[in-house]
Amino acid sequence: MSSQPLLSLENLSTHYVSQQGARVVRAVDDVTLSLHAGGTLGIVGESGSGKSTLALSILRLLPPAARIVGGRMIFEGENLLDKSDTEMRRVRGKRIAMILQDPMASLNPLFSIGNQVGEPIRVHEGASRASAWERAVALLKSVRIASPETRVSQFPHEMSGGMRQRIVGAIGISCEPRLLIADEPTTSLDLTIQAQYLNLLRDLQREHGLALIFITHNLGIVAKMCDQLAVMYAGQVVEQGPVSRIFSAPAHPYTRALLGSIPRMTDNRQHLTAIEGQPPDLSSLPPGCAFAPRCPMAIARCRVEAPPEVAIDEGRTARCWLAVPGVEATAATMRSNVA
Ligand code: ATP
Ligand code: MG
Repeated sequence: MSSQPLLSLENLSTHYVSQQGARVVRAVDDVTLSLHAGGTLGIVGESGSGKSTLALSILRLLPPAARIVGGRMIFEGENLLDKSDTEMRRVRGKRIAMILQDPMASLNPLFSIGNQVGEPIRVHEGASRASAWERAVALLKSVRIASPETRVSQFPHEMSGGMRQRIVGAIGISCEPRLLIADEPTTSLDLTIQAQYLNLLRDLQREHGLALIFITHNLGIVAKMCDQLAVMYAGQVVEQGPVSRIFSAPAHPYTRALLGSIPRMTDNRQHLTAIEGQPPDLSSLPPGCAFAPRCPMAIARCRVEAPPEVAIDEGRTARCWLAVPGVEATAATMRSNVA
C-alpha cells in the first residue's frame, strides 16, 4: 500500500443555503477523511446525517442550493476544488464513478442498455459506436448478466431490479475508475440479490484494484465489505478508523448506540438501530456537541462546547469530549461525587 492516500478530504464543509440565505443547512461540517488505493471505506449514519451530500461533494455534483464552503479534496495529488467544470467532467465517470441510491434514476428508459453502458467509453475514451457496443457486451458479462449479447439491445424496463442495479454497476466501472462511490446501492434489492451484488462488487474491486466508498444503513454490510469506517452524525464524522477496531471497541457513544443491538456482526439484515430522540435540525444546531441531547454519557461541557476531533489510537479518531485525555477521568470523579 502506498503511503499517499488516493483521496483525502481535509476539513470539508458543504452547506445548503435557502434562496434568501436565511436558512443554512450544515449538511457536511468539517469532515476530514482519507482512503487508500484499493481500500473500502464504509460511511454510516442516520437519515439526514449528510452521507449523500458528502458523496456528491466529492464528485462536485451538488444541487444548486449547495455550496462547498471550506476545505480541500485531494484526489491523486490534486485538489478537486481547483478544477474547472470541464476538468471535473473528465474526472467524473472516468477516474471517480458513482452508483446512485436508485438504479432507475440513473438509467434512461429511452435508450438501450448498450447505448448507456457504452456512453462513458465513447465520451471519455473517444471509442467508436461499434467498439463501445462491444465493450458494453463484455461489461455486462463481467457484472454477471446472462446472455449479454441479447440483453445489450434491450431497454431498462425489460430488466429486473437486480439486473438494473448490475447495469448501473457496469456503467460505474466502464472506464475503470480508481474510486467508485456506491450510495445505498442495495436498498431496492431483495436479500439474495443483495448478497450476490455485494460479492460482485467485491470481485470487481479485487479485479480492478478499485477503491470503494460504501454508503449504507446496514452495519452487516459494513462488516462484510469495508476495512475502514466513518460514522456520521449531524454532518460530522464523529468516529472513524478500522472496522474491526470500531466494532470491537466503539469510542463514541453514538457509535456504541448504533452497534448496541447488533446480535451478530455478520447478520446482513441488521439495520441501524433506532436511537431515542430525534437527530437535530442541521439549520439550527444546539451549542456544544450535536449528539449531547440524546447522549447517555453527556457531561456539562458537552452541552456548551463542541468537542474536538481527537486521535484515540493509530488511524482512529473520535469527536467526543470523553475521548479527550483526562476529561473522562474528571467526569467519572464528578459522577461518583454526585452519586
Ligand atoms: P439518507 O440516509 O436519508 O440518504 P443522508 O445522510 O444521505 O440521508 P443527505 O441527503 O446528505 O443525508 O442530507 C443531509 C442534510 O441536507 C439533510 O438535513 C437534508 O435535509 C439536507 N438536504 C439534502 N438535500 C438538500 C437540498 N437539495 N436542499 C436543502 N437541503 C438539503
Ligand atoms: Mg443519502
